[in-house]
Amino acid sequence: MARFQGSIYEYINFVGPSIANLIQRYSRPYKKEINNICQACGKVSTLQAAHRWGCSRPEVILQALIPFGAPDRIDCDLQEAQDAIMTLHKERPIELTFGFFCKPCHDEYDEVWEMIQREYPEDAEDLRMKLK
Ligand SMILES: [Zn+2]
Repeated sequence: MARFQGSIYEYINFVGPSIANLIQRYSRPYKKEINNICQACGKVSTLQAAHRWGCSRPEVILQALIPFGAPDRIDCDLQEAQDAIMTLHKERPIELTFGFFCKPCHDEYDEVWEMIQREYPEDAEDLRMKLK
C-alpha cells in the first residue's frame, strides 16, 4: 500500500482526520449501549467520543508510531500504521480510553485538559504515565 514519510505533526495533520473517522465508527456501538446518555451531564444527546485525559488522539498516535520512527521521521506503510494506532485504541476497555459526552461537555472536558497541561504540567505527565 501507499507509504507515508514525514514527521508526527504532518501525520496528525494529514492522516489524523481519517483516524478520527475510524474511532467514531469503532465507538458507535458503545454509544448505543449507554443509550446516548452523556457521561458528564446525564442528558440524552448525540454523543462524541472524547479521548480521556493523558491519552489524547495525538498522544496515542505518537505512541503507536514510535516503531516507525516517530516523532522525527516516520516512514511507514499507511495501512500498517493505521492498524497499529487502532490496536492501541482497542487493547484496553473502551471506557478507559474514551469518555462519551455531548458536544458542550466534550468541549469543556478538552478545555480543562488543556488547562491542566498548561498550568500543572507535572500532573499531566503523571496522568500520562499512569495510563501507559
Ligand atoms: Zn453533556
